[in-house]
Order: sequence, then structure tokens, then C-alpha cells
Amino acid sequence: MHIDLHTHTNFSDGKLSPAGLVQRAVSNGVEILSITDHDTVAAYKQLNKEDISIKLIPGIEFSTFWNKIGIHIVGLNVNLNSVALNEAITYQHHARQVRAEAIAERLEKLGVKDALTGAQEIAGNDNIGRPHFAQYLVNTGAATSINHAFDKFLDAKSGDIKKYWATLPRIISWIRDAGGIAVLAHPLKYKLTRTKLTAMLEDFIDAGGHGIEVISGRQLAHETNDLAKICLQKNLLASCGSDFHQPDQHWSDLGKYPPLPKDCKPVWEYF
Ligand code: AMP
Ligand code: MN
Ligand code: MN
Ligand code: MN
Repeated sequence: MHIDLHTHTNFSDGKLSPAGLVQRAVSNGVEILSITDHDTVAAYKQLNKEDISIKLIPGIEFSTFWNKIGIHIVGLNVNLNSVALNEAITYQHHARQVRAEAIAERLEKLGVKDALTGAQEIAGNDNIGRPHFAQYLVNTGAATSINHAFDKFLDAKSGDIKKYWATLPRIISWIRDAGGIAVLAHPLKYKLTRTKLTAMLEDFIDAGGHGIEVISGRQLAHETNDLAKICLQKNLLASCGSDFHQPDQHWSDLGKYPPLPKDCKPVWEYF
């Protein structure tokens, strides 16, 4: 069974519309799908549930931080109409705006003009993020590629400002209060030492976190096995997702990865 619980549409930094994403998921044989846009659930308002032949699990990917390191928490099976979820989105939306202004100010000091307006135009909505700034930097010739823009202007040491996001315990509480399951997204992407990853997971569990992504897009078999082992040791649920943003991305297409290791407790058993 193909299951994909981490995907993006053009309501955050993905390229496909919600309907386009669902259509692609259907043709890839995905049976359970969650759209997990960054800090928004706007995609769900555009979809008509009756037109969708696969199981759609309401989801969201929240930005937060741990020890000054930016991390992402996926909320799955959240109640889209809950007070808690809407409070979380309002908070993060404001954080995203203030952060975008701060990123633009930093860029201005580096000689890049009008980055806020430029990135806002590229975003096409008010859910502005670093990929929109990266595109602006490429369009204006300040960077030669999206990767170059991230390396030079937007990575952890320069433009990735984390302090405005809600804290990890707060994010997890909102997800829980919205009836959802809190999952640590792409645990290997933060490039933490094993000691730090363990410490982070302890804080995550203390705050009420439920699970981790054992599979995130294209990854090596030994990485999957290692994350599955952590899941078992810490009694965490296991999730999987492509983190799909656009058709030409190199990591993974919707649902196209091996199944979870057999001894994992799949998160979807709790939906
Ligand atoms: P933000 O939510 O504004 O912090 O933006 C984070 C998003 O930027 C991630 O979810 C990725 O989609 C994208 N991203 C991060 N690093 C890179 C990179 N080096 N190249 C391309 N996209 C990236
Ligand atoms: Mn993204
Ligand atoms: Mn992420
Ligand atoms: Mn993502």
C-alpha cells in the first residue's frame, strides 16, 4: 500500500495546486495522502472531499526550533475546524511575516534591494518562506541557483531566522489539542550528532510528541533501519512521506519509496 503523509502544494512552497497534487497521488497509486503545507491548511479549503477517491488525512508542517536549531513538526489527522489549530496557524502566520521582514532587512544590508516585495510576489499568497526569497535572489542575479541562494543567503548561519516561531512544546500542544498526532519531520535533515538527536527526541517525547518519520523521501536503507530502531527503543510511532514539492525534484515522487520496516508501529493505525 502506498501511503504519503508529507507533501506540499502551492499554498506553501510546492508547485502543484491541491487538485493537481491529489491527481498525481492517485496516478501514483497512493491510497492515504496528507497535504502538509508549511504553517497553513488553506489547501484543504480548495478541495471538494466528494471528488477525492483516496483517503485524505488533514495535516500541516509547523516550523519551530530546538536549541536554536530549526526543526519541523508534522501534525497529522488534525481537526481543521478546531480552535487550537486555528490559533497555531494565526501565531505562525504572524511569525512568518515578521521573519520575512527580518530576512529582507538582512538582505538589504548585503546589497539586495526590494526582497520583501519580490518574494511576496513570487509566493503569490501571504505564506512567504525562504524558497520565495531564494527564487527572487536567482531572478535578480544575486544567486546563480536556488541552492546557491540558500548557501549564500538563507542557510542556518545567515538568513534562516528561527526565533519568531512558536516553541516546540507549544506546537505539540496545539497539535494534540486539535486531536492530531505530532510527528518529527525528516529527523536526519538536521544533521545532528546521535547525542543531540537523542536529547531532542527526549524533549519531543516529554512535550507529548507521538512519532517520527522513519522514511522521508529518498534515503538509504541503513538510515531507514536506524530510524526504525530509534522508534522501537523510544516507543514512538512511525510515519512516512515524500516531502514532495514539485514534479522535477530529485528526492522522491509521491508515495514512491519502500514500505516501513515490519516492526514499526505505523502512525495511520491511529487515524
Ligand atoms: P522556510 O519554511 O521559509 O524556513 O523554508 C523552508 C523550505 O525551504 C524547506 O521546506 C524546503 O522546501 C526549502 N529548502 C530548504 N533548504 C533548501 C535548499 N538548500 N535548496 C532548496 N530548497 C530548500
Ligand atoms: Mn518546503
Ligand atoms: Mn520540512
Ligand atoms: Mn516538508
